[in-house]
Amino acid sequence: ENAIIAQDVEKWYDNNFHVLRGVSLTVTQGEVVVVMGPSGSGKSTFIRTFNALEPYQKGSITIDGIKLSHDLKNIEAIRREVGMVFQQFNLFPHLTVLNNVTLAPIWVRHWKKEKAEAKAIQLLEKVGILEQAEKYPGQLSGGQQQRVAIARALAMEPKIMLFDEPTSALDPEMIKEVLDTMRSLADGGMTMVCVTHEVGFAREVADRVVFMDGGKIVEIATPEDFFNAP
Ligand code: ADP
Ligand code: ADP
Repeated sequence: ENAIIAQDVEKWYDNNFHVLRGVSLTVTQGEVVVVMGPSGSGKSTFIRTFNALEPYQKGSITIDGIKLSHDLKNIEAIRREVGMVFQQFNLFPHLTVLNNVTLAPIWVRHWKKEKAEAKAIQLLEKVGILEQAEKYPGQLSGGQQQRVAIARALAMEPKIMLFDEPTSALDPEMIKEVLDTMRSLADGGMTMVCVTHEVGFAREVADRVVFMDGGKIVEIATPEDFFNAP
């Protein structure tokens, strides 16, 4: 029932900069949470702890019933549950779109090529980019590349998807196609945590909005309450 339980997570750097100052959040299955707040407030760092991309010093994180150890030893079990999409697509430039999507299923999940390709084709169709399957990332628009990145994450069949400012690097006309893809994922019941400045998306798609400032969560509310507060 609970997909993510983060309790009192604290992280500081060697220079004593305290980037997370006791952050707690529980996300239930199928819930869509949007994280907002000023630059440097710790949003990205916080959601990266869910995927074991970011070590932390105090607190606990449980993903789909698996407790993440501080030393990130059980990283592989966690990463199988959690897919992530970054601001800068991070596609492999020397691989075709199709091979970007099949890579992890073949090498991490040990799927046969045919099975991985069948799955990839299905996902590329879902994100509306099947015609580009044989192209290289550099031949695609930013919006198309980001949809490939979403398909690539989905190929691992994650239970949770994290989005870290997925539209911030995109031209305005491409933002909508990525947000529409995220919206249909949400409609399909995916558990999602999204760092984004897209107010329209937050209003229409989020179940809850989390506002961070100075390494803390300062508000958690429904979009109605969050955006219509006096
Ligand atoms: P947001 O996503 O809200 O913009 P971040 O999670 O990216 O915030 O916040 C990172 C903060 O941590 C920034 O203020 C950044 O300067 C600081 N930071 C990141 N890496 C280091 C580091 N290695 N040493 C010290 N401070 C760091
Ligand atoms: P983001 O793109 O998520 O905002 P940042 O700008 O916070 O990333 O960080 C980019 C890189 O610079 C990271 O590797 C981070 O560790 C490092 N960094 C950021 N702020 C600091 C800092 N104050 N001191 C040392 N390293 C930093």
